[in-house]
Amino acid sequence: MVNSSSSSSPLPSQFDVLVVGGGAAGLYSALCLPNTLQVGLITKDTLSLSASDWAQGGIAAAIAPDDAPELHIADTLKAGVGLCDREAVEVLVRQAGECIQNLTQMGVAFDRTGSQLAMTLEAAHSRRRVLHAADTTGRAVVTTLAAQVLAQKNIQVFDQTLALDLWIHEGACCGIKLVYGQQLIWVQAKAVVLATGGGGQIYAQTTNPAASTGDGVAMAWRAGTTLRDLEFMQFHPTALTKEGAPRFLISEAVRGEGAHLVDSNGRRFAFDYHPDGELAPRDVVSRAIFNHLQKNPDESVVYLDLRVIDPERVQHRFPNIIRKCQKWASINVFETPIPVSPAAHYWMGGILTDLNSQTTIPGLYAVGENASTGVHGANRLASNSLLECLVFGAQLKTLIPQPLEHLPNQQSDSKVLASPVDIDTDTAWLHQHRVAISQLVWQSAGISRQANQMNMALEQLEQWQTEFDALTLTLTMHELKEQITYRLPAQLTLEILRLWTETRNLLTVAQLVLKSALFRTESRGGHYRSDYPQTEPHWQVHTLVKEQEVLRSHHIQPYP
Ligand SMILES: Cc1cc2nc3c(=O)[nH]c(=O)nc-3n(C[C@H](O)[C@H](O)[C@H](O)COP(=O)(O)OP(=O)(O)OC[C@H]3O[C@@H](n4cnc5c(N)ncnc54)[C@H](O)[C@@H]3O)c2cc1C
Repeated sequence: MVNSSSSSSPLPSQFDVLVVGGGAAGLYSALCLPNTLQVGLITKDTLSLSASDWAQGGIAAAIAPDDAPELHIADTLKAGVGLCDREAVEVLVRQAGECIQNLTQMGVAFDRTGSQLAMTLEAAHSRRRVLHAADTTGRAVVTTLAAQVLAQKNIQVFDQTLALDLWIHEGACCGIKLVYGQQLIWVQAKAVVLATGGGGQIYAQTTNPAASTGDGVAMAWRAGTTLRDLEFMQFHPTALTKEGAPRFLISEAVRGEGAHLVDSNGRRFAFDYHPDGELAPRDVVSRAIFNHLQKNPDESVVYLDLRVIDPERVQHRFPNIIRKCQKWASINVFETPIPVSPAAHYWMGGILTDLNSQTTIPGLYAVGENASTGVHGANRLASNSLLECLVFGAQLKTLIPQPLEHLPNQQSDSKVLASPVDIDTDTAWLHQHRVAISQLVWQSAGISRQANQMNMALEQLEQWQTEFDALTLTLTMHELKEQITYRLPAQLTLEILRLWTETRNLLTVAQLVLKSALFRTESRGGHYRSDYPQTEPHWQVHTLVKEQEVLRSHHIQPYP
């Protein structure tokens, strides 16, 4: 666990660079920025709470003697089903070694076999190339990065600090509107880096932490950036499924080590759907489970059987999985197969960025799961995402901040925000609809999609958007004047503002995902439509979203 700095210290009114997010992307970006820059890093939780911290399987890097970057590139392009950006994949794979070396020098204790880094196999990788620290790789990385960040004199960390919106001035990003302590503040920055993670919380079934509400993508969309490929969501086939237990991820590495996926009769059904069986790409295995369960309506789960793996190996590789299955589901994995089913896991789409992590708005950068760098295409290769956080965070080492415009600063001149008149009714609406949105999106834009359901879901979301816009809290927030600091009334707690902000962002993201999924009339990677089940050559294009428009990109040439 990491102790981040307390949010009681005063928040400066300007930074050279403001990083939003304390996961692997935010932390590594902050460390890679030139140390001559004053950097502020904010997180709405604490540094020890992020999807990065939860990552289990590991980080892919083609550094073993029997491996080669060309093989990793080929595997990544194949998984992305024609939509990867080849140049971005080259950057990802070829800079992996340097990032891993950097992490080990910082002190990340990856598992070793003798003196060599140990590598495991994951689905759709042609070599054993996934580095790991038991089954808590993310924690090992985040703990080390956070300690490094906290030791840097030029970086200040502010936790429990909630970004509401980007501050755009004359077409460029010049800061963030945020909530800090009991104040709503505009903080100026020469550059802003969005590293807010994924948006799995738009789905009722997800492996993502509660904070993964797509805030960065929603903020960037409101600011007018271009977003890309939002319909591509990866569903992880094996999340623990037991009433009362969280949807804890049972890492792919478990199947990589040989676990069998079986139905209630103990039959290995995955080979009915793909010759690679359990180790087929994630979307294939997720759909195999989905279809298998549809054929057997009395069943709601399938099982991962670890009893076929040497118990010593299980003990050594998966101590966290053993503990969590025992704790949350009273399952001894050495004796009983684990009940699992698919859940939303990783969002391939996001804010369009170039090879320098720059978005389409000057002064605005995006790194990590909220970015669309082009490395994942229509489907992410397992363990490429932590790597993406590092490699594209590292691109910020050459960031040259734009000059800071002199905008009058009014932090000293604060106003008291009038309390919304009906906060209890508003809060009840927000609690109820946050859950309802996720159920609706799971049913309509989940593993298998079709136009009728998506159109009905969009209509419903538009209705909820109208209700949201009429909440007294929404009306109060929309009346805020730019650059004025507001002191918040006592009843407007950070908890309530976070509920409002996240529900607002979930509503936005849910509508954008549905519009993108309706737009793409084919199936590819993480996007499967039962009414358009084929992959169509003429759809080898990206889906671009800008303001209210959903457009096709130019045609992507087949990879050389
Ligand atoms: C259970 C699980 C297991 C995984 N296993 C692996 C794996 O083995 N290998 C792999 O490569 N990938 C794995 N992934 C995916 C990978 O962990 C994520 O893609 C990656 O960690 C994303 O990192 P990030 O820094 O972009 O976002 P996160 O780590 O999610 O961090 C987001 C940060 O942004 C902050 N934030 C969000 N909104 C706001 C706001 N409005 N204001 C202020 N702060 C905000 C959050 O508080 C948090 O600090 C896994 C994911 C999950 C959920």
